Amino acid sequence: MTARMQVAFIAHDRKKDEMVNFVIAYEHVFRHHDLYATGTTGKRIMEQTGLTVHRFMSGPLGGDQQIGALVAENVMDLIIFLRDPLMAQPHEPDINALLRLCDVYGIPVATNIATAELLVKALERGEFAWRELVHKYKPEDWQP
Ligand code: PGA
Repeated sequence: MTARMQVAFIAHDRKKDEMVNFVIAYEHVFRHHDLYATGTTGKRIMEQTGLTVHRFMSGPLGGDQQIGALVAENVMDLIIFLRDPLMAQPHEPDINALLRLCDVYGIPVATNIATAELLVKALERGEFAWRELVHKYKPEDWQP
């Protein structure tokens, strides 16, 4: 059994039902980890599952940036971010900033349900153990 991982959920409005169904389906996996979400996504997950989720602000009000800050601080291990590719978002710069930080720090991030499924199965199998090694480094170790 690997250590508890820090998992963040973000779902745009037309993806929230899909996110809730996904979390219900894998509740047996997620209950072994520490969960975070943007405001409304977290509220929906808590209302419809037995899970406790640390809620940040709503995405358009800064929630993506709060999660991004924890990526930069080497806290987050997995981001499930169900984006709506068919609707413009007012906080597009924040979305891009979060995804950019995931690439900077090499954090697993799923932006659609198919990738989310693969990553949660990897999480269930203990394939995130490498993150325990990375946790030993402090953010300043990344400084150029
Ligand atoms: P929300 O934020 O969970 O508060 O809706 C996500 C988003 O729409 O960016």
